[in-house]
Amino acid sequence: MLGVFEAIAPDTHEEVLFGHDPVSGLKAIIAIHSTALGPALGGTRFFPYESEETALCDVLRLAKGMSYKAAAAGLDLGGGKAVIIGDPAVIKTERLLRAFGRVIDSLGGRYVTAEDVGTTTADMITIATETSSVTGLPNIHGGSGDPSPATARGVIGAMRAVAERLWASDDLSGKTVAIQGVGKVGASLVERLTKAGAKTIVADVNAAAPEAMAALHGSIVVGVDEIFDVGCDIFAPCAMGGALTAATVARLQCQAVVGSANNQLETEAQAGQLAKLGILYAPDFVVNAGGIINIADELHGYDWKRAVSAIDQVYDNVNRVLDAAEERDINPNTAAIEVAEERINSIGSINLKRRGHAS
Ligand code: NAD
Repeated sequence: MLGVFEAIAPDTHEEVLFGHDPVSGLKAIIAIHSTALGPALGGTRFFPYESEETALCDVLRLAKGMSYKAAAAGLDLGGGKAVIIGDPAVIKTERLLRAFGRVIDSLGGRYVTAEDVGTTTADMITIATETSSVTGLPNIHGGSGDPSPATARGVIGAMRAVAERLWASDDLSGKTVAIQGVGKVGASLVERLTKAGAKTIVADVNAAAPEAMAALHGSIVVGVDEIFDVGCDIFAPCAMGGALTAATVARLQCQAVVGSANNQLETEAQAGQLAKLGILYAPDFVVNAGGIINIADELHGYDWKRAVSAIDQVYDNVNRVLDAAEERDINPNTAAIEVAEERINSIGSINLKRRGHAS
């Protein structure tokens, strides 16, 4: 078993809290990677991890990713994440969620939760009975509701930024976009692309989903494996993480990759591989920040117009990262990490001085 401090040390997480309620069977881990920019926001993943070590590694990795996502999005938020170990279909109860709410509340606002795999907006309402450190509430509870349309709106902004760079116009009409996965985000993306005059090619393991896109928006449907081989302008991974492997990248017939999926690159090496092939990669955590930007607005009393204006800044955020990549002669993924780290260090140090901790 990996020692906890050994696990935390390489990425300098600020805090890891283990929450336990023997009555309900709650076993939760909350990781706060950074609060340099503000409270650490990140969802709660409820998943039957095969071991506590796997859960710890996952929550640490995800919390760090949230720090980068918030920082690159220009939000005054840090990065955190929570995991609850167990099968939600078997152990999720009101008692367990409320016990978890109290664990979150003990952090005094340093960690703010939201939905993730295995948790729902209904769960957020239950957790909110014990703590105010909750976002992702339904509209009728003053929240921002399902983040997927906001995420898709941000992806469109990112595609426009890439189009401007590659084809000297941010107009997507006449462009062909291949979308892997037409779930909540992918389907909203297809609708928006169709309205913008683009053609869409779609694939999904759930056969009904692409058929619906064909019927509603005239999408061309291809097989789940075939999607990597289709000729297109932009390839949009909108399914699960790790879609871009050495083998799949070698097959791509596109000029750019811009999609919503988290952790699209199997390893960092794929960022270099894409660059070598002359395929422009818009880093996933910059492209897919529309959802978190929308959710973050709840912390100020949700205002849709203000949220939309912030989501539309994904266009500028992608440009900033691609500019940095060109100027520094590095791949866009490395540039995105550098830009995020620079903001955390720069703005974080102002906050330290304000709190009187800096020398
Ligand atoms: P979803 O579960 O609604 O949709 C995912 C779709 O991908 C499903 O229809 C599923 O059948 C399909 N799929 C799974 N494996 C596939 C494969 N190998 N090939 C083709 N299709 C496959 O999820 P979502 O909310 O639309 O999110 C999509 C991605 O975007 C995820 O990686 C998610 O983490 C990421 N993301 C989502 C949001 C959001 O607001 N929902 C925000 C940021 C990032």
